[in-house]
Amino acid sequence: LATGAVALSLAACASDSPEAEGGGGEGAAECNVGISMPTRSLERWINDGEQLQQQLEDADCTVDLQYADNKTDQQISQIQNQIAGGAKILVIAAVDGEALAPVLEEAKGQDATVIAYDRLINGSPNVDYYATFDNYKVGTLQGEYIESTLGLADGAGPFNLEPFAGSPDDNNAKFFFAGAWDVLLPYVESGQLVVPSGKSPADNDEWASIGIQGWASDKAQAEMDNRLSSFYGDGSQVNVVLSPNDSLAIGIEASLKSAGYVPGADYPIITGQDADKANVQAILAGEQAMTVWKDTRTLGDQVFAMIESINAGEEVEVNDTETYDNGEKVVPSFLLTPEVVVEEDVQTKLIDSGFLEASDVGL
Ligand code: BGC
Repeated sequence: LATGAVALSLAACASDSPEAEGGGGEGAAECNVGISMPTRSLERWINDGEQLQQQLEDADCTVDLQYADNKTDQQISQIQNQIAGGAKILVIAAVDGEALAPVLEEAKGQDATVIAYDRLINGSPNVDYYATFDNYKVGTLQGEYIESTLGLADGAGPFNLEPFAGSPDDNNAKFFFAGAWDVLLPYVESGQLVVPSGKSPADNDEWASIGIQGWASDKAQAEMDNRLSSFYGDGSQVNVVLSPNDSLAIGIEASLKSAGYVPGADYPIITGQDADKANVQAILAGEQAMTVWKDTRTLGDQVFAMIESINAGEEVEVNDTETYDNGEKVVPSFLLTPEVVVEEDVQTKLIDSGFLEASDVGL
């Protein structure tokens, strides 16, 4: 781990070891953290959860880490169990950003502090902090990559574009789409980008009409199969796919390959996000052009620092107090910076930093 944070001890926990592990120590309840992650089906959430758990346990906190299998009811009951278990801090990456207000009300009943992790929780006054990557910027990086690779600013085109968006219940998805579409929509309007399927939102607010529920690869694949068979039967080619993340990109790539697209030949530009192993392999194989890398270790470090400040009764560091209005309040946020990874960056950014092992991606 690229962090010195494990050496720190949380004020409220420092005297509890070793009994704190069992939850029976005097002050154990003071550093009792519930971590609720959406799913084990994506590498990033496994890494996110396990890293934070490790950091907190090294600081003698009692930690309960749960994965909700992308099911809202399961996530709610897991959080209820954490509250019943005396959690004082809840770190939650919501499955459905609209569904957790009632359970957060219960959390407030015992004065728990709630940190929204990566995804904002909407409709609740009980979200204390939000730590994430700059989600709009993720989309901007994808849009700008397409713009510069195709030479759109120099007037190139027309190119056939197929845009996709993320899960309609994930608050991040609209930010990803807005960031990309603010770059790309002017080129759709000028005719330099053409969307043969017609799945081209007229403005950012319509993003959910092309959203893929649950960020599922198989659903993205089925949608791409559909578009290819319905709108490309005349032999026209897809030139570029706006995919908001890697799990969608994997499905889209499978669809394109089975339709006969060949990497290195007529293969389209495809964007992504997360630097998942399979997608980094796809980048090395010429099947995906880029991914937006979010070094999730830095997100874990930031949340660890937040927890440390909360437990010490100190001010929590944030760097954005304007962007993330959840309908009840503007949630004080810490935004980290995402960056583009293309083939040349795999070694220098992902492997040299220890985010991935060379052997993970066949190097
Ligand atoms: C995260 C992405 C992830 C997606 C699917 C989003 O909320 O920010 O990193 O790819 O969920 O899990």
